[in-house]
Amino acid sequence: MVGAQMVHSLCTPRAPPFPHETQALTLDSHACRRTGALTVARNVPGPHKHPMLSYQHIYHAGNLADVHKHSLLAWMLAYLTRKAKPLSYIETHAGRALYDLSADEAIKTGEAAQGIERAKAWFAPDHPYIHSLRQTTETHGETTYPGSPLIAVQTLRDTDTITLAELHPTEHLNLELALPTAKCWRTDGLDMAHSMLPPTPRRGLMLIDPSYEIKDDYVTIPVQIKKYARAWNVGIIVLWYPILTSGAHHNMLEALANNHPEALRHEVRFPPARPGHGMVGSGLFVIRPPFGLAAEAATLKTRFNALNQGPERV
Ligand code: SAM
Repeated sequence: MVGAQMVHSLCTPRAPPFPHETQALTLDSHACRRTGALTVARNVPGPHKHPMLSYQHIYHAGNLADVHKHSLLAWMLAYLTRKAKPLSYIETHAGRALYDLSADEAIKTGEAAQGIERAKAWFAPDHPYIHSLRQTTETHGETTYPGSPLIAVQTLRDTDTITLAELHPTEHLNLELALPTAKCWRTDGLDMAHSMLPPTPRRGLMLIDPSYEIKDDYVTIPVQIKKYARAWNVGIIVLWYPILTSGAHHNMLEALANNHPEALRHEVRFPPARPGHGMVGSGLFVIRPPFGLAAEAATLKTRFNALNQGPERV
């Protein structure tokens, strides 16, 4: 039931919502219809800043890194909604929000089979992640899986604000299809964050989940995050990163830890998806972690540890 076909046309350009964007702009008809007065600026990427994006999360949706990231994200968002005050959710690298785990791409890697299909049993039935998984399959079909923007939409309330960026044209199109009520910009997510912080409402959480396709990401991300944390001095800022056998993430983590000594750094390890695959774990770096996150993350870690020792026995 995923992936209804759609035609993508253009509507009349208006002023860009992100003032720094001076490149040629085109506008997206779906978002124009949805957001009324608001318009969507498409940042036409320059060849140096954004070489062809090829990453598609469908190959990896529901893998063990997603289980780590999505279960803690769902927990944090549910925790934040315990207070009636509205909040902002921002995501800089949204993906398509809804994945069909029976798609050829997902079957080909088998990562969901090693991931969510095993890990579902780790969580209590009333865990916010399980709520999301259940709501997704009930609404979209048995084989579907929620990406982080869908988890946010499902967990947050009408009074909360959701702002998403996705640069890849097809992923962006599918994102809009999946989430017709959210603001989905086709723009550079890091630029978008820079332009809109601090958000209204000021209370809230931003997820930064890059595909790390651009080698420079490991250098530029800590610099950007330092600026975000300063501009949004009450925001919870969450960065996902891979644990790589190459160690490519090490310097980035060192810079982040130096800049934000109070942040929570949480890592889990798992067997590589395929022999020789370079990703052997998943990390979250959380600036201003909500109360209770460390305990929730510690519980989750025991599950991953058991996985690394063989049969699940926790
Ligand atoms: N956060 C999603 C989730 O957990 O369901 C997965 C996102 S996936 C890891 C990263 C996405 O970022 C890809 O869809 C890719 O096209 C997009 N992307 C890459 N560079 C980007 C950029 N500079 N700005 C916005 N999106 C970008």
